[in-house]
Amino acid sequence: MLKNLLLTATLLAGSLFVQAQDREYVIVVHGGAGDISKVENDPVRSALYYAALDSALSIGDCILSAGGEGSQAVMAVINYFENNPLFNAGKGATCTAEGTFELDASIMEGKDLSAGAVAGVKTIKNPINAAYAVKTKTPHVLLSGSGADTFAAEQGLEQVDNLYFATPKTLEWIEKLKQESKKNGTVGCVVLDKQGNLTAGTSTGGMFKKKWGRIGDSPVIGAGTYADNNSCAVSCTGHGEYFIRHAVAFNLCARYKYLKESVEQAADYIIHTELNTNAGNGGLIAVDKEGHIAMPFNSTGMFRGYLYKEKGQTDVVKKVGIGKVMIVP
Ligand code: ASP
Repeated sequence: MLKNLLLTATLLAGSLFVQAQDREYVIVVHGGAGDISKVENDPVRSALYYAALDSALSIGDCILSAGGEGSQAVMAVINYFENNPLFNAGKGATCTAEGTFELDASIMEGKDLSAGAVAGVKTIKNPINAAYAVKTKTPHVLLSGSGADTFAAEQGLEQVDNLYFATPKTLEWIEKLKQESKKNGTVGCVVLDKQGNLTAGTSTGGMFKKKWGRIGDSPVIGAGTYADNNSCAVSCTGHGEYFIRHAVAFNLCARYKYLKESVEQAADYIIHTELNTNAGNGGLIAVDKEGHIAMPFNSTGMFRGYLYKEKGQTDVVKKVGIGKVMIVP
């Protein structure tokens, strides 16, 4: 009996009190939330998503294990997602009601609260690179529209024709825009690096058939993206208007910091209780300053994955998921 009690206590201690500062580094990624039943029920399509999430984590792992900075890992991972037509960011972005492409992206570093973002850009191949340039090369946080495109061109960032972002699928939608098919989503990455710094980044094509220069939560610091070394790094995906109203990314950090909630408690509360789950559909990924992870969603699924390395271990722990269940890739 005593032996059993001791064993139970040890197991509990093991799960509850794993000191996350024992984690050397952590990376969490998402590729958008929404109704993923079609993908989940198609073994070929789901394999492509699992492989892409796995690759994204491996890219981050290579950089972080070598002592690279969180911002380098976040940039490399989001560039990878932006270049992959499976995701609603960069090539593969969803289209506006006019059949064009307008992209948003942001990045924030927790060590100094420095942040950069672009919104409604049309010709920057990798919007996250422009967001980073805004952060590092200007006194501003958010540039929009043609001004942001001009700034990126002046910075020597790769420019493309707006139709570069199209895929056979989105071209089909543009042809039949009246038809109610849609692709939402977004990509994001949050990191705790070996130096103990938190970084968050997000990139998106926005919401299908958006009009009038609509901008969602992704480039809004505090709504779709936030990082603060005293709390968490957060990247969101979902119906942006609701994420802006609830200042979701900052809200999570504030609950963690002031209410002393765990990252899991704060994230679950916002996604499952505070957001109107009928309309404010979506999810988020977050990592706190000690390396704890949260990745809740109130939609049927969210493309997501995490990887971390415990101090003193040679192997990393890695999992990816689409629906409710996570798998080892
Ligand atoms: N949050 C993005 C937006 O509202 C879209 C998404 O993540 O699905 O623009």
